[in-house]
Amino acid sequence: MKLYFYNSLTRKKEKFNSIKPGEAGLYTCGPTVYNYAHIGNLRTYIFEDVLKRVLIYNGYRVKHVMNITDVGHLSGDRDMGEDKMEKGARREGRTAWEIAEFYTRAFKSDIARLNIIEPDIWVKATDTIDDQIALIKTLEEKGYSYRTGDGIYFDTSKFKDYTRLSHQNIESLWEGARVEKNPEKRNSTDFALWKFSPEGVRRQMEWNSPWGTGFPGWHIECSAMSMKYLGEQLDIHCGGSDHIDVHHTNEIAQSEAATGKNFFNFWMHGAFLIIAGGKKMAKSEDNFLTLHNAFVKKGINPLVYRFAAFQTHYRKPMEYSEESIQASRNGLQHLQNQVRQAAQNSAGQKGAVIDEYKTKFLEAINDDLNMPRAMAVVQEMLKSRIGDADKHATIIDYDRVLGLSLDTVDQAEELPEKIKILVAERQAARNAKDWAASDRLRDTIQDLGYQVQDTKEGMQVIKT
Ligand code: AMP
Ligand code: ZN
Repeated sequence: MKLYFYNSLTRKKEKFNSIKPGEAGLYTCGPTVYNYAHIGNLRTYIFEDVLKRVLIYNGYRVKHVMNITDVGHLSGDRDMGEDKMEKGARREGRTAWEIAEFYTRAFKSDIARLNIIEPDIWVKATDTIDDQIALIKTLEEKGYSYRTGDGIYFDTSKFKDYTRLSHQNIESLWEGARVEKNPEKRNSTDFALWKFSPEGVRRQMEWNSPWGTGFPGWHIECSAMSMKYLGEQLDIHCGGSDHIDVHHTNEIAQSEAATGKNFFNFWMHGAFLIIAGGKKMAKSEDNFLTLHNAFVKKGINPLVYRFAAFQTHYRKPMEYSEESIQASRNGLQHLQNQVRQAAQNSAGQKGAVIDEYKTKFLEAINDDLNMPRAMAVVQEMLKSRIGDADKHATIIDYDRVLGLSLDTVDQAEELPEKIKILVAERQAARNAKDWAASDRLRDTIQDLGYQVQDTKEGMQVIKT
């Protein structure tokens, strides 16, 4: 079946064709590892995971590359401000390298909890400095770069069609930036390829280069890494919608200027997670919620967040609220019960994936990843008159895209001994009406990754 994606380049839904038949190259901009990812960031990674799973479901072999930004992402706009890594290091009294390692591990743990399939290749910006320097050299040879007091810059006026992705008007962009913080820049849209370490300051992360000691600009890493691992012409590049105007626009300019070839064919962007009142969740806003704080700590299975993300199309803003999460919590539990019921009713009998419903599901997901519609198909299929064994086989097939671990819901999980003891102690506390002890024990159990629920049938314990 044909596959359509909305391409930010053309602002249209287009039929997806990969450059190499049967193979799709996917590059997703990864985290800047100076802090935990917030659940807004994670919404973008869930969208990208659905995209990847849909490609696989359609029979593509996917080669997925994700970078880890561990240097060069500055806190201010347009190459001003402090390196976020050095800022994080100061905040925590650790080295930038330690910070990078710690938050990379935290990020990998978050995506694992959300059943996000790991990329085939992870690349750290600091592991590809030579490739980035080589790319900057090519740009220099071709006359696209110039030197200022604080670094080597890309001259955006030399690249025709600089705003092809952002669809902005370049003249009004230039006029709009009247207060230029760096007067040596030729155009306000020019961006750093290489920045020099400040005079007399020894940065924690710095390298020698043909232009002087310093560090690469943020955008160059994604161009260097994507071309290194996927080739000069690539299939799909994704990120959050905030990357359209600057980061991805600059990636296109420097990559195409260097190779003379079209860079990526498809650019796909996920809309923001917002909080009540419409404000974007952002690390810099201090309004951010981590997966741990919003879910794990409260004993809510992180897959509830994955399920919640399916309720809004990836190109529409998604509003986070405790109520919407509660609704998704109920929704996921209901789905798990339906799957469990279908499994029990089919009593070991092996069913078949029903074509009619597979087609309906494909029609939804292949129409620019329409997950709200796909979730309606899930319910339609589960409520239909097809046999339970077939229902079970069909939902397990859908789960290749949903990634909700629906194949394990019917396996009553054996609890670890430690949890069993704590649960028994809590039961004893409840019997003795010692509510304070009971609450304390519930929190301890939650911290160990299990959630207790008091139902009419007694206490239930679920792994979160
Ligand atoms: P960062 O770690 O800041 O480089 O961001 C990682 C990814 O999250 C990027 O693709 C961003 O575009 C995306 N992102 C940032 N804020 C949000 C948000 N509030 N909602 C969804 N995605 C976001
Ligand atoms: Zn990037």
